[in-house]
Formats: sequence, C-alpha cells, structure tokens
Amino acid sequence: MIIMKFGGTSVGSAARIRNLKNILAKNREEKVVVVSAMSGVTDLLIKAGKLSQVGDKKYLNEYVNIRDRHISVMEELFKERLENVETLLEELLNILKSIEVLGELTPRALDTIASFGERMIVRIISEYLNRSGIKSAYIDANSFLITTDEFGNASPIYAEIEKRANNIFNKDLFPKETTPIVTGFIGSTKDGRITTLGRGGSDFTATILGRVLAAREVWIWTDVDGVMTADPRITEDAKPLPYISYIEAAELSYYGAKVLHPKTLSPVMEKNIPVRIKNTFNPDFPGTVIVKRVRKDKNIIKSLTYIKNLSLVSVNGRGMLGVPGIAARVFKSAWKSKTNILMISQSSSEQNICLVVKKEEADNFIKCLKEEFEREIEKKEIEGVLKEDGIAIISVIGAGMKGTPGIAGKVFSTLGRHGINIIAIAQGSSEYNISFVVKEREVKEAVKALHIELGLSLDKEGIKVVEIVQFGVGKVGKSLIELILSERKRIEKEERIRIVYRGVLRSNSYILGEETEKYIKEKDFQFPNKGKPNLSDFVKKRNTVFVDVTNSDETTDILIDALRYGANAVTSNKKNLVKNFKTFKSLTSSHGKFYFETTVGASLPVIKTLLNLMETGDKIKKIVSLPSGSLSFIFYHLNRGKDITDAIELAMKLGYTEPNPMDDLKGTDILRKTLILARIIGKKLELSHIDFEEFVESNSLEEFRKTEIRSFRDRINKMREGGFVYPVSRIEGRKVKVSLEVFSKNSEFYNLKPGENIFLIYTVRYKKNPVIIKGIGAGPLITASGVLSDILRIGREI
Ligand code: ADP
Ligand code: ASP
Ligand code: MG
Repeated sequence: MIIMKFGGTSVGSAARIRNLKNILAKNREEKVVVVSAMSGVTDLLIKAGKLSQVGDKKYLNEYVNIRDRHISVMEELFKERLENVETLLEELLNILKSIEVLGELTPRALDTIASFGERMIVRIISEYLNRSGIKSAYIDANSFLITTDEFGNASPIYAEIEKRANNIFNKDLFPKETTPIVTGFIGSTKDGRITTLGRGGSDFTATILGRVLAAREVWIWTDVDGVMTADPRITEDAKPLPYISYIEAAELSYYGAKVLHPKTLSPVMEKNIPVRIKNTFNPDFPGTVIVKRVRKDKNIIKSLTYIKNLSLVSVNGRGMLGVPGIAARVFKSAWKSKTNILMISQSSSEQNICLVVKKEEADNFIKCLKEEFEREIEKKEIEGVLKEDGIAIISVIGAGMKGTPGIAGKVFSTLGRHGINIIAIAQGSSEYNISFVVKEREVKEAVKALHIELGLSLDKEGIKVVEIVQFGVGKVGKSLIELILSERKRIEKEERIRIVYRGVLRSNSYILGEETEKYIKEKDFQFPNKGKPNLSDFVKKRNTVFVDVTNSDETTDILIDALRYGANAVTSNKKNLVKNFKTFKSLTSSHGKFYFETTVGASLPVIKTLLNLMETGDKIKKIVSLPSGSLSFIFYHLNRGKDITDAIELAMKLGYTEPNPMDDLKGTDILRKTLILARIIGKKLELSHIDFEEFVESNSLEEFRKTEIRSFRDRINKMREGGFVYPVSRIEGRKVKVSLEVFSKNSEFYNLKPGENIFLIYTVRYKKNPVIIKGIGAGPLITASGVLSDILRIGREI
C-alpha cells in the first residue's frame, strides 16, 4: 500500500483536482490519500481568526473569500454545492462570530479554525472521485490521529493512533476498493479537541500514516520535481536530486526547505519506509526518493537552504568570563519563554553568547533574559542583551561532508569573493551541515553564488562566476562584449568559469546589476541611468572584474578603489599606468588582481613574459622594442621608398592608425608603452625622465603637409642611406630613450613585416641571444581577446 499526499497547489482548483483523479486512476496499487487545504486557504483561515479576535470586520471578507473558493470549485466539479461542505462553512462562520464577541482567540480555537481547510477539501475530493468512478470515502484525521495538546504544533501519540487507525482502516470495515481521503495537518487530543501538527504539517500526517499502516512507500505530491539542490524560487538553475538520505532530507527541512515539513521523516526513518517526492504537474518524472542510505556519489554537497525572518540575540559582558552556568541560564530563559534556539555561538573570550531565534520570539526571549540576569546587569557584569533583526541562516547540507576536509573553506571563500559578510558560523557535530548567519538581504546572492560555485547547478565540479563591470563601449569595448557573448558557453564548459556582465558604464549613461545582461544583448548600448553610478557594492566583491577599455584618464581612481577593497581590474587603457609612479604602485600592489597585458603589444605576451622571467630570478638588463603596430606599418613602407603621405593614407585606410595619424607619428604612444615596460621591470620613472623628442611637431595631417613634410622626408631619406629606419624604445640601466634609429641588414628590425611589433629582451640568462617576441599587435579584436585572456586569468586565480 502507498500513502499519497497531495499538497495545497495540487488541490488548489477544479483543474488540479481533476489532475489528481487522473494520477490516482493511473496507479492501481492500494492507496491511502492525504490532502492539504487548497493553497492559501490555511493562511486565510488564520487571518480571519486573528481579525475577528480584534473585532476587525474584515474577517468577513476573508471568510467570503474562503467560502467563494470552495463554492466555485464545487460548482465547477459538480454543478452544485455539497451540503456537508456548506454545513462546515456555516460552522466556521459561527465560530468566527463568537470569537469576535469573546474577543479572545486561544491556540486551541485557532487550531479548530485552521482545520476547516482540510476538512472541506476531503469532502469535495472524495465526492468527485466517487462521481468519477473511483470509490472513496473521506476521513477527518481528528477521529484517529491522537496528539499531545500543544496546539499549533502537536506531536503524535503513536500507541493511541495505532489503536484507532487499525479500527478505521480495518479491511472489514473499510473495503479494499475504497480509497480513503484523509485530512492532512490536523489531529485531536485524547479528549477530542482538534489540534494541528504545525504549518505544512500534511507531509507529517502522511508519514505518520505510513508508519502506522506499514505502507510500502509514502509519496508526497507537490508542485516541483522533487527535493532540489536549492529553493527553486530563488535559484533558477536548481535541479531535482534523484536520491537523498533521510538524514539529509531531515536537515534540509529543519533548516528551512519548505518542500517538507521538518518532522516528516521521523515516523518512517526507523521503519525504513521510502518517501518519494513527486510533481503533480509532471507526474511521469521519477522525482526524489528519500531512503536510509544513498550510494556515495561525487557530489558531497547535496543542497542549500535558508531560514529568513530571524533575529540575533546576544548577551554581552566581561562579567561572563569564567563564570559557570551563564550558558545554562541563557537556555533556561529560552525554555521559560518557549523560545526555539536555532543556532548558538559563543566567542572564545567568553565575552558574548549569540543566539539565533525566530524574529517573533525575540522580544519575549530578551525580556526573560533581562529578568534572569537582572543582578548581573545591575552590577554591570553583563553590559547588555542586544537584538539585531533582518538575519538569516543559510545551511549547506550533505552527508558526505563528514570526514571530507575543505568544504567549509570552499564555502567561505566563495562568500568572501562575493563580498558577503558572515556574522556567525556553526557546524553541527553531525557534520551533515554547515550553517552560518548572514544578513537577510544577502541570502539570495549567497545562495545563488554557492549553488553555482559548489557545483550544484551542474553534474560535475563547481563553476566560478566572474562578474564584469566594464567602462567604455568604443571599438575595443564592443569587440569585447561580442567576444564574450560568443565565447562564454565554451569557456564555461572548458574552463568552468562563467562570465556575466554586471555593469557597463560610458561617459554619459550606465547600467548596473543583473539587468546589464539584457542591455548588452540588445547591442545599442543606450543605458537608462545618468549621473554618478554607485559602485560601492561591486568594489567589495572578490569576483568582480572592472574592465577599462576606454581611452579616458578618469577611470584610475575607481580602479584603485576596487583593487584596494578586493575586487579586480583589467585595463587596455595606457593612461591609467602612466600617471605618477605612486599611482602606478597603488594599482599594481593592491589587494585585488590587476592585469594590463594589452597596454603593450596588444595580445602579444610581453608583460607576462617579463614578469615570468623576473619571477624565476632572472634580471632584465635591456629591452629594445618597437611597440607600435601603426608606426611599424608606416615605416615599413617608408623604408621601401613609399612617400610618407601615401604610407599614412594606406595605414589610415587599413585602420592601423588613431583617428588623427599624428598621434601615432609623434611617438607619444611608444613613449607611454616604454614607461610601462620600464616600471614593470622595477624602474621608478616618470614620463619626463625619458629621453624623447616627438618625431614630428605638427598636430594635424594638414599642418604636417604644409609645414613639416619636406624636412621629415629629408631626414628619413638621409637616415635610410645606412639601412632601415624604425622608431625604437630602449631601456637599459638608467637610460631610457625613444627615438628613430637606423638598422642594418643583419638586425632583427630589418626583417619586420608591415605592422609587426618586436621586443628584444636581454637578461642575465639571455645575455647574447635575447628573448624575442614578435607579431602583429593591434586592432580592436586582437586587443579584446587580450583583455578577455586577462579576465580569464583572474577567473582562474580567484
Ligand atoms: P505543498 O503545498 O505541495 O506542500 P509547499 O509549497 O509546502 O508545497 O512546498 C513546495 C515548495 O517548496 C516548492 O514549490 C518550492 O518553492 C519550495 N522549496 C524550497 N526549498 C526547496 C527545495 N530544496 N526543493 C524543492 N522545493 C523547495
Ligand atoms: N494546510 C496546512 C498549511 O497550509 C498544511 C499543509 O499545507 O501541509 O500549513
Ligand atoms: Mg507543504
């Protein structure tokens, strides 16, 4: 026999009830059915009760709401109303009215009111099944499910239940072909007063019945595909778990996963009755099976849960040091005030004890604590009992954590990267869960981040999320966005790094947050926000990468801030790196990771190589380079006799130059790159220390043509007599120079192809034959790919 429990959403409308009938009709095995009230009805009942207690006539609205929902379901299913349901509706109204008169709502009365939802729906469902050809009869569980008298949260008394259930479900009295439809959630004291098993308690009813009737399995039908890796309402990529152990499922529900009532598993655990969670919207899906032991699998962590609406209560004071019995007295106060303590932590200095309790229980608890410690408070041994609201507990659950080191480290480093502050930690001695306290407003982000990075959203290992905030959508910026959009699936698969955009800023508008993704896909880059963006949330996160692909000199401060607080940065913008040396130092020796490979030689591995050489103990003696694609191109043609104007025009046509080609021809770009290279190899230099004269003086092509072209031609032609002319950057000892030089046939420069950069690196180890890096190093796509490579490097390292 199977116990099948259907939750509120599975009986929430006429259509859902028809669906329930189809599910029952399909399964031929003997069944006992347990049902919850229609979704939302228990909430309405409790609300109506509370309103009538304070004499608020709005309770009548809630009542009408409850009544209409049931009437409309009946009319849809039967085209008429059921008398027994109408009788209950009348009874409910009378109770509410008398509560209004008495002005008192005892827990006992509230349980009676709350019981109506289940009692009405079993009548409707049973009647509907009978009319559809499935023989059934309803049973109000208060006729057999005897409980303690803790109204609102009663516990079953099995001996009594067994006696009565064996009578009711006796095969002679209750023929096998008739399916019982039992109210979930409710029970009764021995003397016949209705109790409830706590909110969501129908799951518990089902397993209590499973136990006393020795069912083969208990099936909990709900509105999701099973127990999931996290609450699907906040984590879109939560996935159902095929198997999970009793202990894991119990921890999950205890720590807040609404899918099961926290006590659901206790009745069936020792009897080894499997519990299956299935989806009425997807009945053929196997769902989750909860059994005693599950095969060990790779996923040590099974699921994440959270409990919101909590308060942190702390008892503080030096007087607690070494005084025995303080903790015991704290617990006594909890017991006295009927406060449920969800978590406790004591600092090693014993100067404070922190307790996490439900928000609605906090004030009463504090009152009791203050009474208990009145004397100590007076003597100032205890300085205060404090409360902080807006607290939540997040739990990471999985039986495999027992004896597996490193899980806690992984959890906390993930949270650290996302800038989430952990207020307190507790690892249950069972080692089946790690729980920690955070601010309630950080729950969503924490759960989402952990879900991905602990590998719950996938079958294999975890994925790291890198969040990008990008400055600039010029040529390089646009290329970078396109590149990331087209490559990120592959990157996620191969590198297990997920790149998401969390902000794009341009000079006059910006977008920040999850919405950014939508905007970058639309590609017109018209952003809704103006003014000064607030980046404070982003600079704290260790998985944020600020990407500067502008040409502006106003981004430096934000990069410095981000790097100082722990975020990371990648820049292709040289201007950040050529301000004074102090600024360079702040950028490169901060907390966060900072890469700028593309500022010299675009995507050629120049900076990386220098750093690698130095890391292994080599010393850089000399760098001779031509770090400019546009000048390499222009001079290639000059060296072969082309006229300067033709060479410039050709370079412009092919997109090799800046919009104003004089910006290239002056040589200032090479000057900046030289300074960056020099600083990287440890020289404390400023731009003004470099021996440099602009190659040309004109500020525009027109001016150049008018006033300078002749002398320039003459100068170059004169130099060409000795070989090929190229602009060169030389860094050697304290001498740093940028100038035009002549190279003879046997020089590396002589054989440069048009547009090629070259870097000759001489070190102690590479004294005679330098390390040579040569190749095309320009263009938005090449630069963007270099920027992406820096981003991925950070992704691998964080
Ligand atoms: P029912 O009315 O069927 O008892 P509930 O609303 O009580 O359904 O429980 C099911 C809901 O629990 C799901 O819709 C889901 O939003 C929520 N939930 C929270 N955590 C989890 C989890 N880890 N796995 C599955 N569902 C979860
Ligand atoms: N109807 C009850 C509630 O809403 C019991 C249940 O849904 O399991 O709490
Ligand atoms: Mg439920």
